[in-house]
Amino acid sequence: MSKILIVGAGQAGLQLALGLVQDGHEVTVVSNRTAEDIRDGRVMSSQCMFDGALQTERDLGFAYWEDECPPVEGISLAVPAPDGTGKAIDWASRLDAYAQSVDQRVKMPGWMEDLERRGGSLVIHDAGVDDLERYTQENDLVIVAAGKGEIVRLFERDAERSPYDQPMRALALTYVTGMTPRPEYSAVCFNLIPTVGEYFVFPALTITGPCEIMVFEGIPGGPMDCWGDVTTPMEHLDKSRWILETFMPWEAERCRDVELTDDNGILAGRFPPTVRRPVGRLPSGRLVLGLADTVMLNDPITGQGSNNAAKMATAYLEAIRRHGEAPHDRAFMEQAFESFWEEYGRFTTGWTNALLSPPPEHVLKLLTAGNRSPAVAHRFVNGFDNPVDFFDWFMFPDKAEAYLSEVGAAA
Ligand SMILES: Cc1cc2nc3c(=O)[nH]c(=O)nc-3n(C[C@H](O)[C@H](O)[C@H](O)COP(=O)(O)OP(=O)(O)OC[C@H]3O[C@@H](n4cnc5c(N)ncnc54)[C@H](O)[C@@H]3O)c2cc1C
Repeated sequence: MSKILIVGAGQAGLQLALGLVQDGHEVTVVSNRTAEDIRDGRVMSSQCMFDGALQTERDLGFAYWEDECPPVEGISLAVPAPDGTGKAIDWASRLDAYAQSVDQRVKMPGWMEDLERRGGSLVIHDAGVDDLERYTQENDLVIVAAGKGEIVRLFERDAERSPYDQPMRALALTYVTGMTPRPEYSAVCFNLIPTVGEYFVFPALTITGPCEIMVFEGIPGGPMDCWGDVTTPMEHLDKSRWILETFMPWEAERCRDVELTDDNGILAGRFPPTVRRPVGRLPSGRLVLGLADTVMLNDPITGQGSNNAAKMATAYLEAIRRHGEAPHDRAFMEQAFESFWEEYGRFTTGWTNALLSPPPEHVLKLLTAGNRSPAVAHRFVNGFDNPVDFFDWFMFPDKAEAYLSEVGAAA
């Protein structure tokens, strides 16, 4: 059995740590925040996870909030008509299996306590490069799962895999209660406002109980890039309402009685989507392995980051199992990341990056076809659980045409 240290107590770091403890390894997680800091702090994500990622938690026996958390049963898409009257695209379809979002302020403190209960160690410390040097001397393997933390700069940006060097969206989150539920079944209600940005909203579980999470993705410099002058939680809620009233009156309708879940249920920020090289080299020449957002940071437009984190943690757990007692050298580290990238990561990243640019003709055609073809809507919606599928029909004009003909939905 190995001695393994993980920097970062997020979805990826804790999920991998819990799996490794279960396998009998000696595991330490270093977190720069205590469980209380996380529980009492700002929201960090909308963290909607689809069935494949939820299953990785169930498989480990750590899906503690599944019964309590409201299910997300489908996805809807709305795009307003260019003349401002009604919607040009308006459809919904059910997910084959529900998605769920458990506020990381609930999940991470729970998993941190669990880690210690099961014999893992939790160290509260803001790890720097000197610490990593020491950790690599004291452990067989050091993994960095520090999300967007400063320390991830240790991993070199991979320019070939990172098409953008600027933030592509001004992001904001607003956690609320009191929203009118969507009729028929719950869903991620996704709204795309050309040249302005996107808004999606769905049910979740937060520190105060069930809620709805509003996610705003404003195109930089556009009217939804509007959070700079917001200074209080109430102003943040008012700005959220203003966006909906201005661009999506059908969503504003649902929000007449909304209130913030808590003063920390808000967030605004931006970052450039970045893929980094998986192995970080310390000044001594010792190596550390990057995991999840640390090395594969995507814009939240497709809601894939936590899903990637869970799936990559599972891939690394399996790589460590297969590797046995052999040394965790550069070849092992590169193989662990590259196999995940090849089989899954490049697809979620490629699809997510594609949705950050104005949609090409064939994508508009496909999304519009959802109005008349339940098959198209169903396939799009269920692709969120496995974005690899988009590369068989959605991502390329010729495959899109072939698919539309196949399902009898060509215009
Ligand atoms: C606005 C927004 C909405 C999102 N919505 C979704 C969604 O709906 N669905 C989805 O799947 N994903 C979503 N994501 C992405 C998702 O939240 C992340 O991809 C996911 O949390 C990544 O997990 P992680 O473990 O890699 O990193 P993180 O969750 O960021 O965890 C990293 C941890 O490391 C700690 N840390 C950092 N530096 C150090 C250090 N030096 N020493 C010790 N500890 C350190 C941090 O405090 C943090 O606790 C969203 C993200 C944003 C910003």
